[in-house]
Amino acid sequence: MNWENNVRRVVPYVPGEQPKRSDVVKLNTNENPYPPSPMVKKALDDFDYGRMRLYPDPNAEVLVNSIADFYKLKPSNVFVGVGSDDVLSMAFMTFFNSDKPILFPDITYSFYDVWAEVHRIPYKQIPLDENFRIIPDDYKVENGGIIFPNPNAPTGVLESLEMIEEIVAANPDSVVMIDEAYIDFGGESCLPLIEKYENLLVIQTFSKSRSMAGMRIGFAMGSEKLIKYLNDVKFSVNSYTMDHITQVCGAAAVRDADYFYDCLKKIVDVREYTKEKLTELGFTFEDSKSNFIFASHKTVSAEKIFNALKAEGIFVRYWNKPRINNHLRISIGTREDMDKLIAALTRILAEA
Ligand code: PMP
Repeated sequence: MNWENNVRRVVPYVPGEQPKRSDVVKLNTNENPYPPSPMVKKALDDFDYGRMRLYPDPNAEVLVNSIADFYKLKPSNVFVGVGSDDVLSMAFMTFFNSDKPILFPDITYSFYDVWAEVHRIPYKQIPLDENFRIIPDDYKVENGGIIFPNPNAPTGVLESLEMIEEIVAANPDSVVMIDEAYIDFGGESCLPLIEKYENLLVIQTFSKSRSMAGMRIGFAMGSEKLIKYLNDVKFSVNSYTMDHITQVCGAAAVRDADYFYDCLKKIVDVREYTKEKLTELGFTFEDSKSNFIFASHKTVSAEKIFNALKAEGIFVRYWNKPRINNHLRISIGTREDMDKLIAALTRILAEA
């Protein structure tokens, strides 16, 4: 009768909408507007479907090795998972095991509190300052771990390597995780610090800068000890998290460095163009070093603009949450996507 008393009850994370219509200008989930490297297509074409009867390599060596080569690490410094959401969830489970609260910003990736709840980890949300900056001293208190994205999401604000090091150095008794989902779009990665700090875990994804959100590849880089602990937990949950095809396609993507850098340059150029246009239209925003801009308009409410854009088939992201309920998060698409957005905004604002 009372079986529901034993249910693990959680309020799930709500991902951005994936519309069924194909005529939408989709600027709501920070996907890359360009396809993955042609080398990924080749890897797919070359894949022997007969291999599907076999289990995949549980260590995903081909992918781990290619990531290690790209970042000049040892394979023992790299862990891969099914999207960085999988890696992050696994890392929360592995490293955030204290009775003390873990710390993360009040405005940040809205999955962190969901993982804290599902894994029953106490947590404390630390307010960003009025310009959406992290105050490093706030992270020099007793804690069970620290996590934040750099650049932060959904603000796009990048913190310096010096500031990250200051926080890591002040917390030798905790694991500090830096979620670098958007670092390739102009930030300086804190990866070099993993040699110096055994307790620093850097997490990245193929979903944004490598155009592979649909394939689900994320990875963590850190000391051999951290990676071993992560693998111990992973192999205690599910040995075969990543399928064959994903492993070979991911490896092919990493090996095509030229394509990666070309794609990044295009996105950064369109981002800077979009910043100029949004400013001309009366939007304000903190500078973004990611593939999105978190903007509010001086006179027209974000909610009104969000709904008007949606009616025109242009999807951006809006959260009705304290401190950010007058902001829109606009992903950077192609130049044509952004011109459609600017034209629609010009009309909407003129009519408001
Ligand atoms: N971290 C941040 C900050 C993100 O915005 C996202 C994308 N929703 C992720 C992690 C997860 O991305 P994925 O699981 O596609 O790698």
